[in-house]
Amino acid sequence: MSLTINRDRLLSEIDALASYSDAEAPAVTRIVFTPTDLKARAWMKARCEEAGLTVRQDAVGNTFARWNGSDPAAPVVGTGSHIDAIPNAGKYDGVVGVLGGLEAIRALRQSGFHPKHSIELTIFTSEEPTRFGIGCLGSRLLSGTVSADAARKLTDSEGTALDEVRRNAGFRGELEEVKLPVGYYAAFVELHIEQGPLLERQQIPLGIVTKIAAPASLRVLIEGTGGHAGGVLMPDRHDALCAAAELILAIENAARTSGAVDTVATVGICEVFPGAVNSIPSRVRLGVDIRDTDLQRRGVVMHALEAACHAISEKRRVSIRSELVNADAPAECAPAIIEALSQSCRKHELNFLSMVSRAYHDSLFIARIAPVAMLFIPCRNGYSHRPDEYAAPEDIVRGALVLAETLAALSK
Ligand SMILES: [Zn+2]
Repeated sequence: MSLTINRDRLLSEIDALASYSDAEAPAVTRIVFTPTDLKARAWMKARCEEAGLTVRQDAVGNTFARWNGSDPAAPVVGTGSHIDAIPNAGKYDGVVGVLGGLEAIRALRQSGFHPKHSIELTIFTSEEPTRFGIGCLGSRLLSGTVSADAARKLTDSEGTALDEVRRNAGFRGELEEVKLPVGYYAAFVELHIEQGPLLERQQIPLGIVTKIAAPASLRVLIEGTGGHAGGVLMPDRHDALCAAAELILAIENAARTSGAVDTVATVGICEVFPGAVNSIPSRVRLGVDIRDTDLQRRGVVMHALEAACHAISEKRRVSIRSELVNADAPAECAPAIIEALSQSCRKHELNFLSMVSRAYHDSLFIARIAPVAMLFIPCRNGYSHRPDEYAAPEDIVRGALVLAETLAALSK
């Protein structure tokens, strides 16, 4: 089988999709279910139909473009990503996986290949949390990671419910119908820009993802006693910020001593009340993000955080309450898909790096219901979620080629 990726068509389509934007080029802003997003979706649907694929959309707007295989009962081989973009983003995040996936399917069709399993391009709704505050909304619903009931309770910043927004956007049916049946996918493979600097730094053209890390996020509220910065003597103080300082260092230490570089913990929010230079902090709110590729190891850090809360609260006689906001399980990629990706790389004498995806993607959630893997291509300086995000044409084409061969191998 000889496959040709149509480089010019693929690059011009990436540019065309970027023109559907609420920000001035080169920035791309495409928030889910805005008029701009709906125009981009219509354009995308037309491209899929033009390629001879059958398009179906579910109640939350996840879009499936299918090339029927010779065995309609066989589970589907899936690829895809997202086309929504955070404010002031670039044009490659998600898009490379969607348009690269479409181009891979077109190349396979043109080569005369006939799949046994149907091959399906999936465009997931709202991978970015911009509008409804939750990332990977479409793939969470598809995998049953979030229930239809929980999704119905989501509102955007204007207070409009997801249910109303998606219906107004033309997506009918019930959210209960979004969840895919078990065994729907035989395999799912997502092409994506790395969003980190490792491939570029090591001059390696492709990354094969073996694990996808997942975050747990927590809110911590510390309540001490306020007072005049001059009047209250040190032995009498219950300073909430001093307690927070100890806790932050305890969290850092727990991540540093987990025994693995894949454990990372960040306290990215620290709000101090009342926030005056001559007033003892009476209340502090922290936002904590703990990530790992191993659920148990991440659990150890979370336990260490709880233990530190307890110890610091006793010692300083302040109240400390922690609340789990969200905890997604990390995923391991499927050896068979990793092998199919590696074989294609070896065939073309392409060097690849086995790596961890430190950002999470729709594949993390699809991993709950299907074997998954991801293929990364380099992006300049590791930049992503900014207008100067850039992936080189040759890297995009290589990614689409290896993806096409992998889809072929998995769908035979
Ligand atoms: Zn993405």
